Amino acid sequence: MSNHPLTRLTERLRGGVRTCANACSFCFIDQLPSNLRSSLYLKDDDYRLSFRDGTFITLTNLSSADVKRIVTQQLSPLYVSFHASDPTVRTALLGSNALRTLDVFDRLCEAGIELHVSIVLVPGINDGEVLDETLAYLAERRPQVLSVGIVPVAYTKYSERTAEAASSEAPCSFNDPIAAAHVIEQVQRYQFASRDETGTTWVYLADEFYIYAQAPFPTTEWYDGYPQYENGIGIVHAFVDDIRLHFDELTAAFEAIPDESEALTLLTGELTVDTMIGTLSALRAGGKARLLPIRNYFLGGNVGVTGLLTATDIVAGISFDAERIARTAEDDTVHPVLPTTYVIPDAIFNADGLTLDGKTAEDIAATLATGDISVMFVSDDAAGLLRAAQAAAVPAVKTADEAEVICDEPSTA
Ligand code: SF4
Repeated sequence: MSNHPLTRLTERLRGGVRTCANACSFCFIDQLPSNLRSSLYLKDDDYRLSFRDGTFITLTNLSSADVKRIVTQQLSPLYVSFHASDPTVRTALLGSNALRTLDVFDRLCEAGIELHVSIVLVPGINDGEVLDETLAYLAERRPQVLSVGIVPVAYTKYSERTAEAASSEAPCSFNDPIAAAHVIEQVQRYQFASRDETGTTWVYLADEFYIYAQAPFPTTEWYDGYPQYENGIGIVHAFVDDIRLHFDELTAAFEAIPDESEALTLLTGELTVDTMIGTLSALRAGGKARLLPIRNYFLGGNVGVTGLLTATDIVAGISFDAERIARTAEDDTVHPVLPTTYVIPDAIFNADGLTLDGKTAEDIAATLATGDISVMFVSDDAAGLLRAAQAAAVPAVKTADEAEVICDEPSTA
């Protein structure tokens, strides 16, 4: 039996994983370079996985028998990538198979199947008035439509969108603060109305909108228990909640780290830099921990989340930083530079412990160990931060020979 992750997944589902019948103009998989591991190119669109694991499906590949099975067995809730209610816009976004989905969507709603809906927002295509129409359409199908999540379109340097943007004024996504703020303002109207009517926010915006707009995140209550967490909605807020919950323990752990030691260097993706600065500031970790933002050169475009960082970019970023520190140490004999441990979030690994570019924690640690660089892999939550702080609280000045590599089992999240 093959041990390949894609094969293992396929073997668990009768007939194999169903794949999509679409040609989405914004498909992230189509924007990946061609030499990555094969499981990354799996375009799964399988209602069984949606029911079991909460993966988003488009409904475009469902036969009448599939719909009957969903209804008969009440496979609910399902997670649906919807994008737009206007048939012309749907076709532009998903391809010609999109048209029959509206009938299926209504059939499922009428049969009492509950649906969490996702909208990938593409500037100039399904934003503005089209988004208003789509939200009105979905609101009419409440309570079957349990929640709506809106995420900005992502693009990589391999995307045609990137090339087009370079030669036109048309925005690629919502990275622009004004564009992101407009979406927040537009969607807030539906959120306020929903909270007035039902006490829930119902339609949620991806974290990127607040980050791009430099706007404050909503309150914890606003997220109603994070129904679209796996869609990247509320992750930053959930992290902050987690830090608040463990605030006393964390503060004590950072207090125990020697002052001005910069014992920890925390790696983060570009999108979460402000959140991490705020966190370290609140924990009074200045001088004890520093940040090392890592740019995603591997994918480029507007990809800034930590989880999509590759080993290539991480190793390059750490090596560059360590060399800079070493040069500073040579030039400054008055203030000795203490060794730092690079703390890498294990969110960069998939369930098989591999980064996007196919490397393990051991691969990364071994590469950096040749430069006497100490690394540590932790979960990207309060527990991970606490473990890193506690490890750094031992006030020891290590020589290069004593530099250690601490490798945890990556999480399976
Ligand atoms: S349904 Fe998903 S995997 Fe298929 S083309 Fe569209 S975005 Fe890509």
